[in-house]
Amino acid sequence: AYRARSAFKLLEINDDWNQFLEQPDVKAVVDLGAAPGGWSQVVADKLAWGRGTIIAVDLLPIEPIYGVQTIKADFMVDSTTRRIRELLCNPENPKGKADVILSDMAANVSGNVAHDIEASLEICEAVFDFASKNLRSAQSVGRRKGGVLLVKFFAHPLLDQFRDERLKPNFNQVHYIKPDSSRATSREGYFLCQGWDPL
Ligand code: SAM
Repeated sequence: AYRARSAFKLLEINDDWNQFLEQPDVKAVVDLGAAPGGWSQVVADKLAWGRGTIIAVDLLPIEPIYGVQTIKADFMVDSTTRRIRELLCNPENPKGKADVILSDMAANVSGNVAHDIEASLEICEAVFDFASKNLRSAQSVGRRKGGVLLVKFFAHPLLDQFRDERLKPNFNQVHYIKPDSSRATSREGYFLCQGWDPL
């Protein structure tokens, strides 16, 4: 059983898009905003047991999940990204890069709509910045594809600009996703960005 309904969103996106979580070259996954742990459970199921590195980060505690390392911290502070990098770099993953970065992070609803809208774009920017430093990049040798970023967003006036200036130039494919399992009226959606291939 999954801990959160959101697990079904990830399963749906994975099924619709080429089973990107189940590709044989996926061995290191970072799950940002992971509590209570539904997405991490899905990732742990999809990666064969004992294969790979799964790192889950949240402000809130996450009950243990077999095969998942958890960090309870604020992603928006530098020391957290340092800790993630330390865990990414291990004997099984010597290059220290993530093959997939997931972010389901949502700013806590403050009651102040303008503040929440602003915070949502800040989170996307911070996730992109982290991805740009830590995602496996494409290599012509062996035609290896670049890594995958799946990031939640909320409607924001500058979101199109973020997509066109940050995501589209640096990934082979960028898709806007509105999963069926997310309520039709909500302003949230996801960008699935495949093939990190920075300019
Ligand atoms: N994907 C999760 C699952 O399947 O269980 C659900 C994630 S929930 C929609 C969003 C999470 O983002 C919350 O648990 C919240 O604590 C976390 N979050 C929001 N801002 C954060 C931040 N700055 N650092 C770490 N986690 C954050």
